[in-house]
Amino acid sequence: MKSYKSFIFGILSFWTFGTTTLFAQSGDQILDGIGETDLIARYVFDGDTKDWSRNNWHGKIQGTGAKFENDMLFGKVLSLSSNGKAYVTLPGEALIGEESISISGWIYLRSGQPGQLFFDFGKTAKSRFFVAPMGTKEQNNQQTVITTESGNNYSSKSAVLEVDKWNHVVVVIAISDKTMSTYVNGVLASVTKNMDLELKQLFGKNSTNKNKLYIGKSLVDENSYLNAKLHDFRIYRTPLSEKQISMIYKNASGKGNSDVNEEKGVVDVLQVFSKTNPQLYNEYLVSVSDVEVQTELGNLPRIPSYVKAVYKDGVPGPDVRVIWPSPKDNSDVLKAGNYTVTGTIAGSDLKPKAIITVVNSKEITPPNKKLEVFNLDQVSLDTDLHGHNTKFIENRDKFINTLVKTNPDDFLFMFRNAFGQEQPKGANPLGVWDSQETKLRGHATGHYLTAIAQAYASTAYDKKLQANFANKMEYMVNTLYQLAQMSGHPKTTGESYVSDPTAVPPAQGKTTYDSDLSDEGIRTDYWNWGEGFISAYPPDQFIMLEKGANYGGQKTQIWAPYYTLHKILTGLIDVYEVSGNKKALEIAKGMGTWVNARLSKLPTETLVSMWNRYIAGEFGGMNEVMARLYRITNDKKYLEVAQLFDNIKLFYGDVQHSHGLAKNVDTFRGLHANQHIPQIVGALEMYRNANDPAYYHVADNFWYKVTNEYEYSIGGVAGARNPANAECFIAQPSTIYENGLSAGGQNETCATYNMLKLTGDLFLYDQRAELMDYYERGLYNHILASVAEDSPANTYHVSLRAGATKHFSNGDMSGFTCCNGTALESSTKLQNSIYFKSKDNNALYVNLFMPSTLKWTEKKVIVEQTTSFPNADKTLLTIKGKGKFDINVRVPHWATKGFFVKINGKEETVKAQPGSYITLSRKWNNGDTIELRMPFEFHLEPIMDQQNIASLFYGPVLLAAQETEPRKDWRKVTFDPKDISKSIQGNPEKLEFVIDGVVFKPFYNTYNRHSVYLDVTLK
Ligand SMILES: [Zn+2]
Repeated sequence: MKSYKSFIFGILSFWTFGTTTLFAQSGDQILDGIGETDLIARYVFDGDTKDWSRNNWHGKIQGTGAKFENDMLFGKVLSLSSNGKAYVTLPGEALIGEESISISGWIYLRSGQPGQLFFDFGKTAKSRFFVAPMGTKEQNNQQTVITTESGNNYSSKSAVLEVDKWNHVVVVIAISDKTMSTYVNGVLASVTKNMDLELKQLFGKNSTNKNKLYIGKSLVDENSYLNAKLHDFRIYRTPLSEKQISMIYKNASGKGNSDVNEEKGVVDVLQVFSKTNPQLYNEYLVSVSDVEVQTELGNLPRIPSYVKAVYKDGVPGPDVRVIWPSPKDNSDVLKAGNYTVTGTIAGSDLKPKAIITVVNSKEITPPNKKLEVFNLDQVSLDTDLHGHNTKFIENRDKFINTLVKTNPDDFLFMFRNAFGQEQPKGANPLGVWDSQETKLRGHATGHYLTAIAQAYASTAYDKKLQANFANKMEYMVNTLYQLAQMSGHPKTTGESYVSDPTAVPPAQGKTTYDSDLSDEGIRTDYWNWGEGFISAYPPDQFIMLEKGANYGGQKTQIWAPYYTLHKILTGLIDVYEVSGNKKALEIAKGMGTWVNARLSKLPTETLVSMWNRYIAGEFGGMNEVMARLYRITNDKKYLEVAQLFDNIKLFYGDVQHSHGLAKNVDTFRGLHANQHIPQIVGALEMYRNANDPAYYHVADNFWYKVTNEYEYSIGGVAGARNPANAECFIAQPSTIYENGLSAGGQNETCATYNMLKLTGDLFLYDQRAELMDYYERGLYNHILASVAEDSPANTYHVSLRAGATKHFSNGDMSGFTCCNGTALESSTKLQNSIYFKSKDNNALYVNLFMPSTLKWTEKKVIVEQTTSFPNADKTLLTIKGKGKFDINVRVPHWATKGFFVKINGKEETVKAQPGSYITLSRKWNNGDTIELRMPFEFHLEPIMDQQNIASLFYGPVLLAAQETEPRKDWRKVTFDPKDISKSIQGNPEKLEFVIDGVVFKPFYNTYNRHSVYLDVTLK
């Protein structure tokens, strides 16, 4: 166990180092030790009522007499006066769908008058949540009160606040603990226990609810206004711990460590288990095998995550999970010879060894691209055997039917705004990350372009729909083309302008660049922006990034300019590829040239600094889209610019290319997941176009590491408690329990979208079944599971903590986060990876089992797949047409009870190993049928470092316990170690099961509370 401890010590010191450089006051990564993903809103009130978080829930001052005044302790603060009936309103949507919340704020009362409310959040007198710091007319203690429509009333009392003094008040509503706690100046003042409450009772579950969120005024009493000063009001989506609260209090009041943002290990509480108790199958473990692995000089070995094991008592245990050390450089493999590394097994003293041989051979040649995808219009989704719409069709239709009703002018609003153009009648700005002052505005437009292009290509089944999407594409492109043409050209002949992208001056009257996008502050002098420029904001953010700007809410800070641009350019190229619209290509070329002009002038060190800046340097897949543009145009300039987006530290370790992912070194632990996955997709696209093997190794090594060491059971990959950011990879590989499962959620949905993209792309080079096994997992258990029951609202993070719920948003497509954006793309291309073909059209790959029809036009063959999978364990392929070709069929990793093939009704003898492809080759005739049967069975997938916490699968389908109330601890389940199915009743056709009286359903059919991870005992 000794080595295990020093292993953990290593992690913490790494992260302390990694986060001290982050700064406060700007909605950045970690504030007072709490990750920004936990923050719903933050109002510093130092001159305005803006939300400093990235969520843009800006407040508004109402009434008169509110002012910002200087304060000895906090600088500028907000002063509300009861005379002028001043108060602040927050957007009502801010609290919708949250699981638990914490409210934190500083208040300086100038009057002891009872009835003043710090805040009052709710709908009516019967449904509200408030704090009365000086008591009410009826009650002379400080009160924290919740009243619900159903008549529940929860309140707690403590001493009234001292007047004429700053007090820090925090209220934590912890739904899973059923408590409401009030803290004053870092100390618990009162607590209400055993609450039977769900926050949706107060704030609703979807965005049609109209909540009233007031600071400084009662929802009901017209005459109670706050007479006080306010500072730093925050709303968190997690129940803050006492330690976190005390940290906020001490840091702000100057009583704490001045280094306010230093990460101090994991503070977010999770059930703790003994580290030395063997759990699950490891309880029966007798011995494990050592392994021998060969690797080439300089490349870290790929040691298998699972090794053969011997179990006692006749228990049929699986291969055992080993956690191997994960070096941060390649110093172990710099000379030829042998060395040994020792692995650990969670809860066990067994220490398997890996004997590594380092050989000095030539560079490994990566595979060439052998396969191609079918165009979206070649594959259509069909109903199941009973004529019912599948979940895939349901989700597709939710998106298509809502997309078709969208107004393209809404998606063009911020572009026209940036170019100072008038808005056409009926145009409305989008909200969330595309609102006026959001520095990411325009990102949804990029996703939208991709989505309508895919929808156009996918709706051949309905000509009216298809025509609608064709019109939308054309209108969008025409408008964007017009704007792009204006950049760097004189407004009227004879007036001055700047056509050189590298000579863009600051806005008129300013001496420097800024990211001010407010109505008053935004620059619209497009004639000075350089030729070809297109974006929904002026060029300043791109230039500021070069000059060192960080991510944050101030005018001197930026969000992620190239991230947004990647979406827009990808959307344009997608439109070009499905419709041949040349203007779309011209816009992309123009902006590609603009980017090339600027980036090619920068020293490598500047690029390294830019691409490694948290969020600010997030560039989506700019490398991918520029390489694609090169492939389409054959213009080398675009390949050059693609290469300027190499994330050198990630790919190669350093500028000398010492190691990095290219040499199988994990350089991404602790980093923001979705900032980096698209860069890897880009690396593979670079390999395709630039032919440098290193790019392939970067992509292949990354995929292997992520899926083996960072993956949650639904196929998601981010959700760190350490570092305290739900969107980051955990701080140390293979420690999902120790460092993952953040209270702020896991599994950012767009990260899985990008992982699936990478997976499908890799399969075109290397036909390893494990790739499409992962694809199936992520598609069924995350992407399919990420959409609301009756609308296209969809998930951002998907929490897998005990008794969690899914939180859906953007059902009306009016305001997009990143994940709302990729959801548009996912659900308009659900059919795109069922089948692939070889480049020479001599082989077909059947990757997924979904009712669908493939028109293999190049071969004049139609393949119909009829099935009710996964509600049935078999599928039937019918060939229409004839020809000689191979059909390669995936034998899933979970098909451990056999895989049976009948051709034209006759049983075939096949050697079908789970986790492989089998090849059926012959001259196929019209009407030939292939029946594939793959009996499902139940299996457990434990978390690598906490084996008793495991997910239950039936075949490919992740089952979730349907919870009826919030939970604090993991749901306990006991199974027979020799056959877990003995404890499970139910109906496989409905995929509904009962274990110990609790209903289990597919996670993709789960809309209420769920337990996806269970605390499993084998007995
Ligand atoms: Zn996202």
